[in-house]
Amino acid sequence: MNQRMYDVIIIGAGIVGLCTAFYSAKAGLRVALLDRSTPGSGTTSKAAGMLGIQAEFRSPNPLYHLAKESIALYKILTDELLEYQTTSLGWTSSGAIKLAFTHSEHNQLSDIQSWQVQHGDPAELLDQQSLQLLAPAVNKEACAGLYFPNEAHVQPKQVARAFEHSLYELGVDVFPYTTATSVSTNRVTTRTDTLYGEQIVIATGHESFANIPWPVTPVKGEIIKVRPRRQLSKQTIFYNGWYAVPKQDGEWLLGATSTQSEDTTISVNGVLELLTNIQAFLPDLRDSEITAMWSGIRPKSIVDSPFISPHPTLHSVWLVSGHNRNGILLGPITGKRVTERLLGNEVNDAFTSIKVGEHSEHHHQSEKSQFT
Ligand SMILES: Cc1cc2nc3c(=O)[nH]c(=O)nc-3n(C[C@H](O)[C@H](O)[C@H](O)COP(=O)(O)OP(=O)(O)OC[C@H]3O[C@@H](n4cnc5c(N)ncnc54)[C@H](O)[C@@H]3O)c2cc1C
Repeated sequence: MNQRMYDVIIIGAGIVGLCTAFYSAKAGLRVALLDRSTPGSGTTSKAAGMLGIQAEFRSPNPLYHLAKESIALYKILTDELLEYQTTSLGWTSSGAIKLAFTHSEHNQLSDIQSWQVQHGDPAELLDQQSLQLLAPAVNKEACAGLYFPNEAHVQPKQVARAFEHSLYELGVDVFPYTTATSVSTNRVTTRTDTLYGEQIVIATGHESFANIPWPVTPVKGEIIKVRPRRQLSKQTIFYNGWYAVPKQDGEWLLGATSTQSEDTTISVNGVLELLTNIQAFLPDLRDSEITAMWSGIRPKSIVDSPFISPHPTLHSVWLVSGHNRNGILLGPITGKRVTERLLGNEVNDAFTSIKVGEHSEHHHQSEKSQFT
């Protein structure tokens, strides 16, 4: 590893680090990106890849607007990244449906529809009959569905690979299998070397270092991949926090459990919970072949909102994480907003909601975070 001075050193090459490296390099900064494994191999590779703005947000909170900006960036990136001879992002825009089985769930869908339409996002409330016409595989007892025709999803591993390839073209020094063991102002120490940077971004997902406050709780999520024997629906189907996503290869991702834990074991309980809940609204899944299952750890911030925050005492060190279940969705806008801060531009947005240091009593420090 050479020891030249970088404008920015980014630790962690998940979706957040990759997007930050991409926009920083495009802005002309000299960038080093390091990961203790390979780029995109952390939680990013475990995600379902939904860009679920309308299906995920129940109110028009500030993150909803950032999510819309992120989708707009994805639309540009699908072409832009191809210029770097990368793979496609696996973008699929086949819509999503959120189901209701009770009168009160129907009312909730109606409320969501009204604010989303006011914000210019198409959402159609389907009665039982129209729902069955659009998605015949959905349980016949569903009394309504809120259809979002524009909802899309990507293939997270392909997205990570596409960004990684573009970074080589943009002149970023990417260091895989390089574990950062400590950080101080202008300096990152790895197991074998020291790198120097004007600014440092820590984007290590659910983990952190001994001297880095990290207001993040690890939340395990399990996913099962299945190959249905017959066509189920073109749309992603949501109900009560559970989802089934049809992927380009004909397989479906069924997700996801949610347990506060850093243990990546796939539990019998988790599998049972997943299959029971999802089969209840998609009964035709019954005879599907299970082709894979995995788990990943979501980085949930303690105030439920991702953050871009200066380190409370180390000058020019930025802490970026907390994306929980929306990191793939919010990756591009996060990378862009971090870059603006690195360039010294004033930004006031939902990412500033955590002032790290003010929450020190809540800091989560994982056992795995003691790298030295
Ligand atoms: C089951 C599941 C389903 C999901 N589905 C979706 C979805 O459909 N849509 C969506 O938007 N989001 C989804 N998510 C959430 C999304 O995956 C995360 O929010 C996102 O991947 C977080 O990205 P990150 O870059 O912060 O972290 P990560 O991807 O974990 O990247 C952090 C990187 O830092 C590296 N690292 C850590 N410590 C060090 C160190 N000391 N030195 C060097 N490198 C280090 C790690 O190796 C890792 O590569 C899902 C998550 C799970 C678990």
